[in-house]
Amino acid sequence: MRSVVLLLSMSMLCILSSTIYFQTLYGQNHKTIINSAISANLTESTVENSIPPQSTSSSSDKLKVVSSFYPIYEFVKKVGGDKIDSLVLIPTGLEPHDFEPTINQIQAANSADALVFNGLGFETWIDKINTKNKIDASNSINASYIDNRTKSFDPHIWLDPVFAKKETENIRDGLIKIDPNNRDYYSQNAKIFINELDTLDKTIRADLKSCKKHDFVAFHNAFSYFAKRYGLNQHTITTTGPEEEIKPQRLVEIIQLAKNLGLHVIYSEELIDPRYALAVAQEIPDAKVLVLSPIEGLTKDEQSKGIGYVDKMNENIQNLKQGLECSQ
Ligand SMILES: [Zn+2]
Repeated sequence: MRSVVLLLSMSMLCILSSTIYFQTLYGQNHKTIINSAISANLTESTVENSIPPQSTSSSSDKLKVVSSFYPIYEFVKKVGGDKIDSLVLIPTGLEPHDFEPTINQIQAANSADALVFNGLGFETWIDKINTKNKIDASNSINASYIDNRTKSFDPHIWLDPVFAKKETENIRDGLIKIDPNNRDYYSQNAKIFINELDTLDKTIRADLKSCKKHDFVAFHNAFSYFAKRYGLNQHTITTTGPEEEIKPQRLVEIIQLAKNLGLHVIYSEELIDPRYALAVAQEIPDAKVLVLSPIEGLTKDEQSKGIGYVDKMNENIQNLKQGLECSQ
C-alpha cells in the first residue's frame, strides 16, 4: 500500500508541474476555466450585479434584493423580474464554501430591502447581516443529510429540482410579504419557473431510466439530495468540502472504489482545480474526467453566454449519462 501511495504522489507531482498534461487530458477549455477561477479569487473580481466593494447606494425605487450566492440569485431574478433590483453578495465566479463577506459587503446587504439566502448553514456568516427582511429559501424543506464539515444539515438542496421548486415558492412568498402590491406578478413568474423545473425533473427521470450504473464519483458532497431523488449513489473525492486538503491516501481509496465499481468517469467541478480528479482518472484504465457542477457559481464564460441553472443541470445530466452508461 505504501508503494502505491508513493507512486501516486509522484504522479500527482507530475500533474502539478505540467500544464501540457492538463491540456491533453482535460482539454483547453478546462485550463481556461482554471485560470479564470484563479484570477477571480485573486482579484475578487465582481460580476455584473454583484455587490461592489465600496458602493452601497441605489437611486432606483424598486425593491432592492440581495441574494447570497449564485443559484439563489437566479431563482430570485426569475421571480422578482423587473420589479426588483437584484444583487448577489458572493461574486458569481467564486467558489462560495469558505467565503467571508467584507465590511462593505455587509453594509451593502444591510441597506437592502431583503436578503435571500439558501439556509441550512451554508451561509455561515448570515448572522453578521441585519437586513430588515431575510428570506430563508430552505424554509420547511425536509433536509435529511448531515454535512461532514459543519455537522449540520447538508445545504445542497438546490441541486434537487424538486427542492429547487420549494425554494422558488419560498422566495415568491417572501417577496409577496414585503411587496404585496406585486403579488400577481411574482406568482406568475414563479409559476413559469416552476414549470421549467418540472420539465427538468421529468427529463432527468427519463434520461437516467436505463443506465447500467448507479454510482458516481463527484468532487465534493453536493449531490446527496440529487442522488436520493433519482436513485443514485454518490461517492466523493473530498470527505468534507471543496476547501479540504486531500491526502494521497484518500485518492488511493477512491481509485480502488472506482475500480471495484467499474467506473470510467471521474467528476470534477468548474470552479475548482481538477488535478485531484485527474490524478484518480489517471490510475484507472480508459477513465476520463468530466464536469459535474454543484452550480455554486458560474465561470465568466458561462456568465457572458447567459447560461443558467437549467442549462447547467442539463449539462450535468449529459455528463452523468456518460459515467452511468445510460442509453443515449
Ligand atoms: Zn458545496
